[in-house]
Parts: sequence; C-alpha cells; structure tokens
Amino acid sequence: MPNILISACLLGINCRYDGKNCLNEKVLKLREYANIIPICPEQMGGLSTPRVPGEIVGNKILSKSGDNLTDNYNNGANIALKIAQINNCKYALLKQKSPSCGCGLIYDGSFSGKLIGGDGNTTKLLKENGIMCFNDEEIEKLLKLLIDKY
Ligand code: SF4
Repeated sequence: MPNILISACLLGINCRYDGKNCLNEKVLKLREYANIIPICPEQMGGLSTPRVPGEIVGNKILSKSGDNLTDNYNNGANIALKIAQINNCKYALLKQKSPSCGCGLIYDGSFSGKLIGGDGNTTKLLKENGIMCFNDEEIEKLLKLLIDKY
C-alpha cells in the first residue's frame, strides 16, 4: 500500500488554531487502500494550539494580531516535506483553505473570510517536489486513483 500524508485535523486530531479538529469520516476510508501519515505543519513549525490564526499576506504569513509567522510556517512546510520524502509519499490529502494545507483555495489575507484561488505554503512546497496533492473535497478522486492503481 502507498503512504499518504494527511492533514492531522481531518483525522480528528485537535490541532486546529481553535484547539478543535475537522474530522472527516470519509478520510478514514483511505486506510483500506493506503498507510496514512498525519502531519500538522503549523504545530510542527513550533506554533501552539490553540493559536491566533494566520493568513498569507503577500510573501509573508501574518497572524490576525499582526505577528510575522512566516518562519514558523516555513519550518512546518520543510518538516512536512521531509516526512513525505522519508516515507516515499507520492500523495497528500490536505485541508482546504488553511494557509499551510490549503489546496486550491485559501483566505485572501484580509482576515475577512474572503477566499481566493491558491495553495497554502506546505501544499505549495509539496507540489514543487512532485507530490500529488488533493484537498478534502477530492477524497473520492483520490480513492478512485488508489483503487485503480494499487
Ligand atoms: Fe489542519 Fe493543516 Fe491547519 Fe494543522 S496546519 S490544523 S493539519 S489545516
């Protein structure tokens, strides 16, 4: 079975900025076809839980209270990539809209709830390194790929 990186909050781990999770039962189904490797780039980058949420603003990642968290987010992204490489992960399933894990859709940096097309910084790095990334609205697509291929 292939190894797949998965945003830990989707698996029910309370690592979100608000100390909660966003368990998606469908994600658990992936365990029938893949070994799942949970990651939370924001925690791995040294941020606490709960924490003030961040958004991508230009080439920085700022907290809602104005702190520059770019180094934390970059550290978390680099660790996530390393974990993917050590485990030979070809796929990742990531939580949509997050400044780290967003895959196709992120908040626009105004902290007003507006969304724009784009990737979180971890997703971007994973993609740049050849890892195929899916968001949590694409679980069926990933499942189909796994069933067809493995
Ligand atoms: Fe979930 Fe990713 Fe945010 Fe961690 S960084 S809480 S895994 S979306």
